[in-house]
Order: sequence, then C-alpha cells, then structure tokens
Amino acid sequence: ARSNEILSEKGSVRVAIRVRPLSSLERSNCGKTCVTVQPPDTVVLGKDKSFTFDFVFGPEKSQSDIYEQVVSPLVDGIFKGYHACLFAYGQTGAGKTYTMGTTWCKGSINTSHGMIPRVINDIFVRAKAEMDSYDISIRVSFIEIYNEDIHDLLKFYNPSSENGNVLFDGSQKIGIREDEFGNVYVTGIHEEPVQSYEEAMSCIETGSLHRATAAHDMNQQSSRSHAIFTIIFTKTEKGQEGLKEKVTSQFQLVDLAGSERAKRTNASGARLKEGISINVSLLALMEVISVLGDQQKKGSHVPYRRSKLTRILTNSLGGNSRTAMIACISPSDDSFQETLNTLKYAHRAR
Ligand code: ADP
Ligand code: MG
Repeated sequence: ARSNEILSEKGSVRVAIRVRPLSSLERSNCGKTCVTVQPPDTVVLGKDKSFTFDFVFGPEKSQSDIYEQVVSPLVDGIFKGYHACLFAYGQTGAGKTYTMGTTWCKGSINTSHGMIPRVINDIFVRAKAEMDSYDISIRVSFIEIYNEDIHDLLKFYNPSSENGNVLFDGSQKIGIREDEFGNVYVTGIHEEPVQSYEEAMSCIETGSLHRATAAHDMNQQSSRSHAIFTIIFTKTEKGQEGLKEKVTSQFQLVDLAGSERAKRTNASGARLKEGISINVSLLALMEVISVLGDQQKKGSHVPYRRSKLTRILTNSLGGNSRTAMIACISPSDDSFQETLNTLKYAHRAR
C-alpha cells in the first residue's frame, strides 16, 4: 500500500517542462520563438508538435512556482521516510543549472534562488517545527560524474571541528557499494554534517567552485558532467530508547550533462569518449525511469548497472521514492531540433 500511495496515476516519475525566456543575445539576433505553452500541461513546438506533461512552466514562471508545484511534495516525502530524486535535463544553455540553483548561493532565499537552496531552506524550516518531538540530523555530499569517473566536489571542504568530524583528507578511494538490503552508496567521499541553511549553502558554494575550476583545468566544461548533490536526512523520535521511531531518507538533486552531447557523432578522441559516456548514462536513466514508471513492466529487470549515474541514483529511483524531472528548453527557433529531442525524451519518461 505504501508504494502505491507514492505512485501518481501516471507512473512514479512526474515530469515538468520549463521554458526559459529568450536570452538577450537571442533577442538581439531577432530570435524567434518556436515554443507555445498551453496551460496547464501542454507545450507546442513549431506549428503542431504537441506534447502533454504533468506540468508545463512558461518563461514567466518563477523559481518559487516550480518549487511549490514540483519539488515541495518531494520534501514532504523526505520527512515521511521516502527517498527523493529531482533532476534537470536539457541541452546546454537551456536553464538546468539556473533551475537547480547551484550558482546563486549568497544571502537568504530570494526570487533568483533555484531548487537546491529552496529544498535546504524548507528542510530546516520544517525541522525546526518538529524540533520538540524529534532529533533531526542532516548531512550533504556533492559529487560529479565525468567520463564514468566520480569526483568529490567537497574533497577539499574544510570540516569544522565543532561538528566533531574526523578531518577528511580526500585521499580515500571513491567507490560504489551495495549493502545487504540493496541500498547503494558512494564510498570514500566527504559527507558534511550541516546544522543550518548557511552551512549547507557554503558546501554548495565550495562544490560549485570546485566543479568550475576542475573543469577549466582539464579544459572541459561543466556541461559535460553530471553533478549530484545529496541530502541525507535522519529523524529520530525523542524519548525512550528502543521505542523510538527513526526515519532515514535521502534526497538526490542532479544537474545532468548537456543532452546535446548524446547525439554528436562527428567527434573523435576525448570528445567521442565523453559523448559516448553521456549517451550511455542518459539512455540508461531513461530506461530505468521507463521501467519503473510502467505498471506493465512491474517486476521486470531494472538496468541500474548500465551506468554510474543510474547506479548512484538506485535508492532514489526505486520503489520507496518520489522522483521528478524538470526538462529545460529554450524557446528560440535556433534550438528547434534540440528542443524536439528534449521533449521526446521527457515524454518517454512519463
Ligand atoms: P544549463 O545549465 O542548462 O547549461 P544555465 O542554467 O546555465 O543552462 O542557463 C543559461 C543562461 O540562461 C544563464 O545565464 C541563466 O542565468 C539563464 N536562464 C536560464 N533559465 C532562466 C530563467 N528561467 N529565467 C531567467 N534566466 C534564465
Ligand atoms: Mg549548467
């Protein structure tokens, strides 16, 4: 009954489309729009390519609109012990990072803040309201996957000794481990205990900076890697030992690699390898989601092992979880083909 409760009638993954505004460059190039939003749930590309989703957000919709409708229910789940997964899909420049909110970290929540800061803020606000009855602890980690290698974006994060941390020197070998219950963990990465919104945001800031610099050093762009920010949430009832209710859940927020890489076939060498690994992981993600979302495929094999991305997301994509995808698109005519690809991908996911 529990797992039925969390499945929407359309499947376990809720899919939202977000159309960003035309950029000033696109406007100055007399960019034309080829995307029309038909509220509440339909988007039309060109004259007649019509797609229906769980949610469709036009360029005028705010970060807060998207948070309230798509993401807030996932936070509800976290407090009840359901895992959650939110990912942003789309071509480079379509608005994934803006939507996830890893670049705008300063100050308390304002209109620019994306989903990750809002999730963190919401968790701390709700935790405070439950403080009298529960002990709540929160840890965060931040990694990226590039060419099927995992990098710890908090590797050099300097944990405060007040939190009682063992100083983490970043020399541990990173791996993926599965426990006897089928839970999958990334090992050898830093997990920082955080006690406030500000502490968590400081991790995001450090991690994002590290993502950008490492990408620059290796002559890459961050658009070629998947970034995964994980919140590990534990809630323990105060009171008598042994009778305490304990809830542990995990929220994974993913800024996927640009989907245009998946199609590029004229690349060679490093670019080709990069394209192939992005291709493999985005296709694996699609397969996992479609098996999980399709009632008819219930019980069939879920191909988690096909990529690092899907392995790492195993807990968050399984039965005891709520998953949402925000597919980001540009309204510009120039992006017609990539937008069509994104809409097709997103439509298969629901
Ligand atoms: P991606 O991560 O998919 O490559 P970005 O999030 O970096 O794309 O967005 C590209 C540019 O468009 C950035 O300058 C970003 O600030 C801007 N942008 C994206 N989405 C929106 C939006 N909904 N409203 C305003 N600006 C946006
Ligand atoms: Mg980005």
